[in-house]
Amino acid sequence: MLKPAQQAKKIIISGLVQGIGFRPFIYRLAKEHGICGWVLNSPKGVEIFAQGRAANVKIFTSEIKTKAPQKSRIDKLVVLQARSADVKKFEIKESLKRGAKKSIIPTDLAICPDCAREILDKADRRFLYPFANCTNCGPRFTIVKKMPYDRAFTTMREFKMCPDCAQEFTDPLNRRFHAQPNACDICGPQVYLGKLRGIRAMEKAAEQITKGEIIAIKSLGGFHLACDALNKKAVEKLRLKKSRPHKPFAIMAEALSSVKKFCHVSGEEEKFLLSEKAPAVMLKKRSAGFAPQVAPNLSALAVMVAYTPLHKILFYLLKKMGFNNPLVMTSANAKDEPICISDGEIRQKLSAVTDCMLSHNREIHNRCDDSVGFICDGKPRLTRRARGFALEPIKLSHNAISVLGMGGELKNTFCLTRQDEAFMSCHIGDMNERETENFYLSALSKMKKLLGARPAVIAHDLHPDYATTKLAAKMPGKKIAVQHHAAHIFSVMAEHKINSPVIGVAWDGTGYGPDGSIWGGEFMVADGKNWRRMASLKPVALPGADAGAIEIWRMGLSWLKTALGENWRKHISLFAEVDRKKLLSVDKMIDAKINCPLTSSMGRLFDAVSFLAGLRSEITYEGQAAMELEALCENHSAKFYSFEIHKKNGLLIIDPSPMIKEVIKEKNAKIIAEKFHATVVEMAAKTIEEISRKTKINKIALSGGVFQNKFLLELAEKKLSQKGFKVYANVLVPANDGGIALGQAWAAIKNMENAR
Ligand code: ZN
Ligand code: ZN
Ligand code: FE
Repeated sequence: MLKPAQQAKKIIISGLVQGIGFRPFIYRLAKEHGICGWVLNSPKGVEIFAQGRAANVKIFTSEIKTKAPQKSRIDKLVVLQARSADVKKFEIKESLKRGAKKSIIPTDLAICPDCAREILDKADRRFLYPFANCTNCGPRFTIVKKMPYDRAFTTMREFKMCPDCAQEFTDPLNRRFHAQPNACDICGPQVYLGKLRGIRAMEKAAEQITKGEIIAIKSLGGFHLACDALNKKAVEKLRLKKSRPHKPFAIMAEALSSVKKFCHVSGEEEKFLLSEKAPAVMLKKRSAGFAPQVAPNLSALAVMVAYTPLHKILFYLLKKMGFNNPLVMTSANAKDEPICISDGEIRQKLSAVTDCMLSHNREIHNRCDDSVGFICDGKPRLTRRARGFALEPIKLSHNAISVLGMGGELKNTFCLTRQDEAFMSCHIGDMNERETENFYLSALSKMKKLLGARPAVIAHDLHPDYATTKLAAKMPGKKIAVQHHAAHIFSVMAEHKINSPVIGVAWDGTGYGPDGSIWGGEFMVADGKNWRRMASLKPVALPGADAGAIEIWRMGLSWLKTALGENWRKHISLFAEVDRKKLLSVDKMIDAKINCPLTSSMGRLFDAVSFLAGLRSEITYEGQAAMELEALCENHSAKFYSFEIHKKNGLLIIDPSPMIKEVIKEKNAKIIAEKFHATVVEMAAKTIEEISRKTKINKIALSGGVFQNKFLLELAEKKLSQKGFKVYANVLVPANDGGIALGQAWAAIKNMENAR
């Protein structure tokens, strides 16, 4: 029946091949090479039946790999011999839906160049339409209610496509073929501001911004609060109304060219910034004095480039008004609560901050903040994994049972696994807020449904008082408690697929230690299931517990007393800003060991040094002291301060007391900052060498919030690699507590495997 030299093949492709125009690509390729047959989405990925001249089938198969759409990722391509069939054309067939559970949930994508061109083209039917999208761009995760990803299962269900849109949707050669949220001004969602609709609403919003007003803007995964980033009064008003005196705001610029005007952008940073995930990227300011109100005392800014058509149009209208400034674009939420997604939430929680709201009627189903990251050693590192990454799976080293990692207390995320994939929820927030707990439970049930995951084991932090620990206790199933810093280290092992022991360095603010003290400067040998503490920073008093992490002069005093004893009083002038009575009472508190838990936290040592360098005595947001210290650093220092390492009960104890004595003699804060960073890296290197000598372990895992410090991470990776160690750090999940859910999940998997 076949003509000579004809051939039939079945091709099965798995990977990221759905929801990004893969089938139209195959369709076009088949036409090009005279191939007959069909293509369809299957639970495994994409299946193709290709029949034609042998030579053509061969080229067709190889070009699937070489010409695949940019946004796709082929993990596996299998070619099987097939029986010939009576096919005369090539077609796109209906999806196979059975067992659709394994399919990957597509992530939200920034507007593509084609759509960006259209919405600013006066002749196009989507001119200034803020919801243009295609198979290469637009909302996905934030609008999907259940799988498979079909319009009927998204919040676009209520918009019926007009004939023009429907035509695009059904034409295999159109770039909107099966673009589920396809829409236009006639049939799709609309923006509004008060009584104004469409372009009038956006013009009004732009006008308000130029006047220095703060407006709420509905974006992909939630609302932003926006204002002119260069208008000092506007930003200060926002700070005052949000009671957020210093914490940096993310900013949004129209395009890369404008970002380059105020920030240094390396090639890698440019790629990350303009990627379809469009995260906020930490970039070094060109001039330290640029818009200090946006990120006071910091050298870097979190910058995004306009990533939705709505943002693009807003910048276009602003430009027409002669306004070219970047905008503050900060998540609209009440303090420590999840980002607002509805008009009602904005009115209820933020009416005092903003009186103007640019909203729209495309409902957000899955709440999702902006992702934040930085480039270190050429690799993007996430400090917040959310929009663009939410529900992209992290590949594990092997298939395993499904588990749930509950996450931590602050910056919470949770992690669900399914076979050899781990799915991180997007940033949830601080769990000690009542609102957050509701959001957590609703996000968890949505995600279980989307993934079809039924976790058999639940892993949570060892801390008995964490909201997530209490929540886990109420859930059915087997529980496993995982120590906080072990979870940080396991998160690195999980994402780098490490199944042999590592020396883990977990440096962060706080974490519950099994000995009842507050850990955070730990070295451990860990294998995924078990861990053993090998070394730690010398434990000192944390005067006033939580208060000691805010009034950082308390840690300054604690370390000063540790280093100098009663002679600390010779340096009482360092405490000029501190109320004298309070100072002396805290001094007594430390001596009497009242309300002074012990801590080995590296974060608190950063606080102490920041205070002793004269930067500040109190902080208004987590990590402020360390970030301001990092901001002073320019060059890696070859010199470092003295410290001691001694042994106590089989544990190596690092004592930085000699360093404290040297720091207070130093005059220049910049020198202190640079030498201090070099010192802690030297501490790590010396300690690791000692542990490695004994254990013969050569792999190092660095994690914990302290490693969000780019200057430190770079220096540590460099120094440890030079010494011949293989160094791993977090890349796909945050080094802060936003990443521990992955480590908890990994510990649960490992424990269950080894228990069998
Ligand atoms: Zn597009
Ligand atoms: Zn339409
Ligand atoms: Fe932590």
